[in-house]
Amino acid sequence: MKQKILIAGAGLGGLTAALALLRDGHDVTVFEQAAQLGEVGAGLQLSANATRVLALLGIDDAVRQIASVPAGKQVRLWRTGQSWKLFDLGQQSVAEYGHPYFTLYRPDFHRVLVEAVRALKSDAIVLGARCAGFEAGDSGVKLDLEDGRSFGGDLLIGADGVHSRVRQGLFGADAPSFSGCLAWRGVIPAERLPERLREPVGTNWIGPGGHVIHYPLRRNELVNFVGVVERSDWTVESWTAAGTTEECLGDFAGWNEDVQALIRAIDTPYKWALMVREPLQQWSRGPVTLLGDACHPTLPFLAQGAAMAIEDGAMLARCLRETADPRQALGRYQDARVERTTRIVQGSAANTKRFHNPALASAEGALAYVEREWNEARVRERYHWLFDYRVDQVELPPVREALRSDHAERAS
Ligand SMILES: Cc1cc2nc3c(=O)[nH]c(=O)nc-3n(C[C@H](O)[C@H](O)[C@H](O)COP(=O)(O)OP(=O)(O)OC[C@H]3O[C@@H](n4cnc5c(N)ncnc54)[C@H](O)[C@@H]3O)c2cc1C
Repeated sequence: MKQKILIAGAGLGGLTAALALLRDGHDVTVFEQAAQLGEVGAGLQLSANATRVLALLGIDDAVRQIASVPAGKQVRLWRTGQSWKLFDLGQQSVAEYGHPYFTLYRPDFHRVLVEAVRALKSDAIVLGARCAGFEAGDSGVKLDLEDGRSFGGDLLIGADGVHSRVRQGLFGADAPSFSGCLAWRGVIPAERLPERLREPVGTNWIGPGGHVIHYPLRRNELVNFVGVVERSDWTVESWTAAGTTEECLGDFAGWNEDVQALIRAIDTPYKWALMVREPLQQWSRGPVTLLGDACHPTLPFLAQGAAMAIEDGAMLARCLRETADPRQALGRYQDARVERTTRIVQGSAANTKRFHNPALASAEGALAYVEREWNEARVRERYHWLFDYRVDQVELPPVREALRSDHAERAS
């Protein structure tokens, strides 16, 4: 049965869901608070579990045009720069998982999603539409915007990110705690860097109390930098708070010259406090559900936050396709996703200790530690289950009675 579906938030998750649902013939409208479409200027890694969804949605070729395809990943030691192969990507990802590993400039990828959604419904995305709350009942759901407008539909999907108003409407305010880590971010024109830092590989520097990730973007024209340090004097959870080069260099004093060179090449480094939230175990009630960061925000240490949001969108559409009752389909979607997303959130948190371990301080300690934690078997144990997920093939859980939405009525 075709549904009238309202989506709060035109981020990567909301747009993926919109595309999947439009392709299935549902009538979808996406409400985005921003007055203009765009994405924060940063990088993104998408492993085969997520690029599989792009292929299912018919946008893999368009994304390939704007992606980089790293040949592999390596680990490097913070001071000496000694390196170890982590795993092969490139052809290896396609051979083993059927799909590539892409690294992308987020605004480029967002544009592909927007164009694909608009090609199916030109007015699907409503801008300047900040969701304030909703009313859910037996006959459907009404979404209220902050400017006083309201829109009715059969189902509502909260894809409105980590500070989700829809989640607040369902469950009240959340209580994040500070992880003790600050992330520095920057995107660098590749031509500013020496040849060795422009290689098409993903690099993960590990050190005591911090780590650095960098990888190519946009057909290797850009390089994405993320540097994480344990620091407790900055707790602002923002993608757009600017810091200074000096402060960033100070946080990585004593690190290898390659790390310093990357930082010096960034125009404006942005700093972002990493917060931790307990993953929800339920997020579908009546005609309302959540996806992406709205229900399982994660530390970025497995590079799976957007991948989860993308998988969510595809799984939600599949459950609606394969379940007779749409409200039961929302519960089934949640049940299909909760174990995997919880495991990712917990695995990402566990990587903080692994990447920042005090054993990395000395060269000898580091050697033994890397050989223990990054040997082939351990790496496969940590990553294979992530990349090998096939959203269109995993067995769906049984259909359950949909949870009633009573307590969520008149939520705002
Ligand atoms: C430094 C960093 C590196 C990362 N690296 C990776 C990576 O390599 N790989 C990966 O998979 N993930 C990565 N992630 C995680 C990933 O970016 C997020 O998990 C992902 O963007 C979540 O998508 P989303 O659609 O759920 O939410 P968002 O991308 O946050 O989108 C939410 C949208 O909702 C809109 N919105 C918010 N409130 C309202 C409202 N009230 N009304 C209407 N609209 C609203 C917002 O404007 C936004 O457009 C990284 C995150 C960070 C911070």
